Amino acid sequence: MAKRAYNFNAGPAALPLEVLEQAQAEFVDYKGIGMSIMEISHRSKEYEQINDETQELLKELLGVPAGYKTLFLQGGASTQFSMIPLNLLTPGRTAGYVATGSWANKAIKEAKLIGEVAIAASTEADGYRRMPKPSEIHVDDNWAYLHITSNETIGGVQFHEYPDTGKVPLIADMSSDILCRPIDVSKFSLIYAGAQKNLGPSGVTVVLAREELLAESPKNVPTMLRYDTHAKANSLYNTPPAYSVYMVNLVLKWIKAKGGVAAIEQYNREKTDLIYQAIDNSGGFYKGLVDRDSRSIMNITFAIEDEALEKQFLKEAQEAGFIGLKGHREVGHMRASTYNAVPRESCAALAEFMADFQRRNG
Ligand SMILES: *Cc1c(COP(=O)(O)O)cnc(C)c1O
Repeated sequence: MAKRAYNFNAGPAALPLEVLEQAQAEFVDYKGIGMSIMEISHRSKEYEQINDETQELLKELLGVPAGYKTLFLQGGASTQFSMIPLNLLTPGRTAGYVATGSWANKAIKEAKLIGEVAIAASTEADGYRRMPKPSEIHVDDNWAYLHITSNETIGGVQFHEYPDTGKVPLIADMSSDILCRPIDVSKFSLIYAGAQKNLGPSGVTVVLAREELLAESPKNVPTMLRYDTHAKANSLYNTPPAYSVYMVNLVLKWIKAKGGVAAIEQYNREKTDLIYQAIDNSGGFYKGLVDRDSRSIMNITFAIEDEALEKQFLKEAQEAGFIGLKGHREVGHMRASTYNAVPRESCAALAEFMADFQRRNG
């Protein structure tokens, strides 16, 4: 058996072992064609099948109603920060953004380069320790859209109740929590996610949107940055990141085999409960960095008050085989990313390590 690390990396992140093994088995000779996916045309029937099937699987797993289209794009979620306003924030209009931390703020920064931005709600005054309640989010009926960040990967806060925006299209950056739990897709007009946290490897970004939003981009938007270019070409306008899409395909099949998104949520809650309990039962030795009702089931942020002890924790954790526990430089402290593919055993081992470290140092 391959030696697998306790991988808590924030992104790129752990992939299911079963998926890696299947990719390995098909690496050199994909289904008897004598070539790998990376060596064939994106216009071949083999790749077209992967392209179509992956879109269908995503729709099936998310329970997407009729009238939505999936795109596989490049440039990461970061490029969507620009593409969304370029395509949807037309001159004279305003878009609302909810400021909940690092990623939301990056999206806001890009949108401001392109058009009028209004801050619909901000938790900056609370140090981004919580998500705003739907009632705190002011939505103007004339806005082009409202943009939220479903899960703040760096801060460790996650929306557990989405705002109701009425006729105003709701757009969500779900890069770090897509498919971690069931959602009502009909509430959203556009959902996007870089694949490298919860969907597969880096290189592809998924955009799922109402067809009418993708149908016609403003005239002056460059070809590659237009949603209508990619929608009309079924994500085959230019050479797609074929291997990444193939990997997403395998990850989606893995989720399906696990029982779908509801089963995955149950699994994620069991996993994260283990770690949150280690924090909550530590009598204050470990401190969560966010409010309980905004806690993320994908990125768990925590601290040890004594700085020297925190350093010691990270050092010993690394020696014990735990990878990626150092918090993002903007927040510091610790972060355990517990995406769908992170096995329960990794979380149980971390909880045990935390309790043991506390026994020895508390
Ligand atoms: C990682 C991340 C991004 C950036 O993704 P890239 O694919 O690296 O551009 C954007 N938003 C969120 C919420 C993320 O977690």
